[in-house]
Amino acid sequence: MELIVYVNGKFRPQSEATVNVFDHGLLYGDGIFEGIRAYSGRIFKLERHLDRLYASAKAIDLKIPHRREDLTEIILETCRRNKIQDGYIRPIITRGPGDLGIDPRKCKSGPTVVVIAQPTIALYRGDAYEHGLRLVTSSYRRVPPQSLSPSIKSLNYLNNIMARVEANQYGADEALMLDIQGYVAEASADNFFIARDSTILTPWTSTNLPGVTRETVMELAAQIGLTAKERPFTLYDVWAADEAFITGTAAEIGPVVEVDGRPIGDGKPGKITKRLMKAFRDLVTTKGTPIYA
Ligand code: PMP
Repeated sequence: MELIVYVNGKFRPQSEATVNVFDHGLLYGDGIFEGIRAYSGRIFKLERHLDRLYASAKAIDLKIPHRREDLTEIILETCRRNKIQDGYIRPIITRGPGDLGIDPRKCKSGPTVVVIAQPTIALYRGDAYEHGLRLVTSSYRRVPPQSLSPSIKSLNYLNNIMARVEANQYGADEALMLDIQGYVAEASADNFFIARDSTILTPWTSTNLPGVTRETVMELAAQIGLTAKERPFTLYDVWAADEAFITGTAAEIGPVVEVDGRPIGDGKPGKITKRLMKAFRDLVTTKGTPIYA
């Protein structure tokens, strides 16, 4: 069945949901987006995703042409038109169409706004959550904040895609990216944690995206008697960890059992990771903004 997609004020069937080929989102990756998830008819942490969307827009000096309440309603209505109970939601705001040349002032007609809501998303093979993911450390370093803040969720994903292509070439499930100094930054589209004793550790967000799932996992950790810490760490800490996992809206919590051919812990999804996966599942299926009020 065709999805119904919101494009610039209209709801259109997927096959007719198009944007201008002169859109600077297409030409230059000039735009921002979000990845949001719905569970059991509720949108999980919609407010935090909107905070990040508006912050990303501000960071690239792009004015979202909707007030937050109005964009919220557009997102909810896109979900309703697609009868979403469980699904994945993708708002995209680009600089809009303009003449060739990167200057955003060329985009005179204003930003393009798209919202897609689809019933499923799968990032990794089906048994990845039961048996764990195998990562390789990418030879591409995460773009440093001195060049482009990795905290902006922009349409420029080529740095991440290069890492993912490399992981694919090695037959791994996902790439682990280091920052320019050699500290662990994040996976290609997910945050990264290690766990040892009853502490979980993730890098500060200066070198990665401030993930909504990352934040949720840190809150949950405190609630289930674990200590969550943020600080830089290296591959040494990954090798020495008892457990590792990735977090992301689409990925949720994914156990990592191998990095660069080395088993993490005993090479099986760990106890802490499993406890967090359960707590996460309980939370996402009970909390969130109702789609059908
Ligand atoms: N890092 C990157 C580069 C991402 O694209 C994402 C989102 N898929 C994440 C981390 C995880 O963020 P969130 O938990 O908000 O989805």
